[in-house]
Amino acid sequence: MKRGLFVTVLCALSLTSCFRDEGPIEELNIYVERFLKYADSYGYNFRDEEHELKVRFSDLDEDKAGVCYMNTSHPILVEFDSAYWRKISGNTNSEYLKENLVFHELGHGLLRRRHDNAELANHDWKTIMCGDELPDGRSPNINYRGERRQYYIEELFDQNTKAPAWSTLDPDFSGLVYEHAYTPDLTSNESPFTAGQSDYFTTSVSHQGFSISNTKNESALYAIKYTDFDSSKDFLFEITLSSNAEEYGVLVGQCDVDEKNYNGHYVYLTSERHQMIGELTCAFPFIDLYHSDIGTNSNKISIRRVDDVLYYYLNDKFVYHDNTSDLPTGGGYVCIPLMARSTTVIKQLAIYRNDPMRRSFQAVVTELPCPPLRRTPHDR
Ligand SMILES: [Zn+2]
Repeated sequence: MKRGLFVTVLCALSLTSCFRDEGPIEELNIYVERFLKYADSYGYNFRDEEHELKVRFSDLDEDKAGVCYMNTSHPILVEFDSAYWRKISGNTNSEYLKENLVFHELGHGLLRRRHDNAELANHDWKTIMCGDELPDGRSPNINYRGERRQYYIEELFDQNTKAPAWSTLDPDFSGLVYEHAYTPDLTSNESPFTAGQSDYFTTSVSHQGFSISNTKNESALYAIKYTDFDSSKDFLFEITLSSNAEEYGVLVGQCDVDEKNYNGHYVYLTSERHQMIGELTCAFPFIDLYHSDIGTNSNKISIRRVDDVLYYYLNDKFVYHDNTSDLPTGGGYVCIPLMARSTTVIKQLAIYRNDPMRRSFQAVVTELPCPPLRRTPHDR
């Protein structure tokens, strides 16, 4: 049987040297073959001459991770940006990001699909075929993992796939009351947060709350270690922040520099009224939400963990949920990412749990590089 799949070896010498140990063309081929198997199962036949395919690495523009030359070439040509591929390699979710990218391009090239920027009810994109200019300036980031990935694959091959149950989830935790609460007085000089003077940060206490300023020209994380808080167990975490930075937020998880353990779930808010939700070991935020009603002075961010699911709230309104089962979890750090020369005020903080918590904790200030807000390139 003649197969319509040809994998080119025309990548530049510099590219082959970068990838000489990893066999990237073979790696691309894995995802192409996986796509073709799914296509087979959905009744398509792309293994003929008409659908002859050539995939290769290239040096694409900065905002492009992949390009499919629809209608302009035979064989169908798909190029992937080598720098992007390298960048996402080694992250916790790199396997999924690579599959997502290859499937998107082959969605153009073989399924003949164009960009579709419809949203599900929970504001996840309806399809991995989103792209170009997106509504409200949102990013095309896709939470392509677990049950969401299953849906996105189904939708790719069958656009009539019904909206999944997770897209309409409206969780009700009104009956869930935690036995223990930790609510430090952030307006007091006795607050253990005040241990945080360092070369990077200056801190102060006022009636507004606990204020942290990053005095350097580079972003950094202000990390506070809770010796008695394990984020791998159920909890409700609340923090109210105000900031003069274009991007600010909070990270809950593990940030142990000595052990090189550095993971956690984060929420960023931006001055453009976006909210980014993600996990540090993954290459990009899982989702970029837009809220027209986001506060201009301060905002309350809440994260609730129940079993393996995290529920995110903004100003007490449920906004998103995500499964943690394929991600590293745990640790007892709360980190405040601070952009260069910015100040953030913690106005309120509370942790609720069922396990007993001591009323004191160890405040350890750790200067860590701040994860930049990365967005997946447009027009994949
Ligand atoms: Zn595209």
